Amino acid sequence: MKVAVIGAGWYGCHMASSFMALGFEIVVFEKADRVMDAASGNNQFRLHQGFHYARNHRTRVQSRDGYARFMERYGRLSAPIEHNIYVVPEQDSLIDFLTYRMIMSASGLDFVEVQSDDYGITNCRGGLRVGERMLLTEKARAFFTRRLGSALRLGHSVTSIESGPDGVFVDGESFDYVIDATWGSHESIQKPVFFEPTLLLYYHSADVGNFALTAVDGPLCSIYPCEEPHMFTLSSVTHTPLGHYDSSEEAWARLDNLSSETIEEKRSLMENQIQRYYPAFRDHFEYVGPQLSVKTKIEGASDDRSCYVEKDGRVFKVLSGKIDTIFYASDTILSMLEAETELEEMFL
Ligand SMILES: Cc1cc2nc3c(=O)[nH]c(=O)nc-3n(C[C@H](O)[C@H](O)[C@H](O)COP(=O)(O)OP(=O)(O)OC[C@H]3O[C@@H](n4cnc5c(N)ncnc54)[C@H](O)[C@@H]3O)c2cc1C
Repeated sequence: MKVAVIGAGWYGCHMASSFMALGFEIVVFEKADRVMDAASGNNQFRLHQGFHYARNHRTRVQSRDGYARFMERYGRLSAPIEHNIYVVPEQDSLIDFLTYRMIMSASGLDFVEVQSDDYGITNCRGGLRVGERMLLTEKARAFFTRRLGSALRLGHSVTSIESGPDGVFVDGESFDYVIDATWGSHESIQKPVFFEPTLLLYYHSADVGNFALTAVDGPLCSIYPCEEPHMFTLSSVTHTPLGHYDSSEEAWARLDNLSSETIEEKRSLMENQIQRYYPAFRDHFEYVGPQLSVKTKIEGASDDRSCYVEKDGRVFKVLSGKIDTIFYASDTILSMLEAETELEEMFL
């Protein structure tokens, strides 16, 4: 079976690698010159367990289960965070702490309850110390570049996918199936989605140690460590988004035109926001620079960041969820393929 994977982010790399292990002939088309160049290389690098998604059951459960699978398969492409704290602000959260804690507990997630004051955190009702880890993107990039080897066609932007009676053609080359792993930027699934340009900020801190702080739930903010020692990202649900676009191209174009004044304005807003919960932020963190990226989001207020897979003839379209939900995508495609093979055998 010859399968084309379009896009070499976390989703495309994982699916290509898994299907190669099953003996499929794989070609990965990636428009950038390296793997994980788009969202997979520019995000908050959080290996989610579900604590971020009190309002969305599907996302929480996919992350919880995906985390366990991720640790089995790619555990070494992540690292632990000694003090990884989720807090629920008293005034600004959409839910109260006891409801939040109950949802996480009922979802089977492990945590230790902590006093937020112990970490210099203010204006919060309570805190949970959690086991979420950080993703090691450079390590992952090196691993998948080696693993996929000659299956990778870097610098190839796919322009046409055409289905024929016995196969499907990607820029004229014939395949049995195609997996669109472009996070909806080539062609999306049937749900209403939009493309959101994003701004995270990188900071250096010599003295806070291995620490993460996430305020939930709703229009809040977080600090999360990165692979490079002493480096962190600051993210804000309110100030990170830079617009709402119908196509990925428009969203990336918005980033091309982003002025340094806008970045400075946003930086001031984001620092003021985090200072409300972590007043010593400006004493401990020194601004380094921006991180620009694009998110594909499902429309709606219920915070759905789960993964969806659709089959359209010989083309599988993947709308990615969180990074550790890669296994949901590969498992779903395999069962769809299996079901199709069973049907074909029944009519032979
Ligand atoms: C600011 C931000 C913070 C985030 N934080 C987290 C987090 O902490 N934890 C988490 O789990 N998730 C996070 N996410 C979400 C996470 O980044 C995505 O779920 C994940 O990267 C999606 O992976 P992907 O492989 O589907 O997409 P991508 O990484 O975007 O990969 C798609 C690839 O397709 C390629 N491509 C597109 N069109 C074509 C074409 N026509 N031909 C060839 N190649 C093409 C692109 O170049 C790209 O490399 C965050 C996202 C953003 C933007």
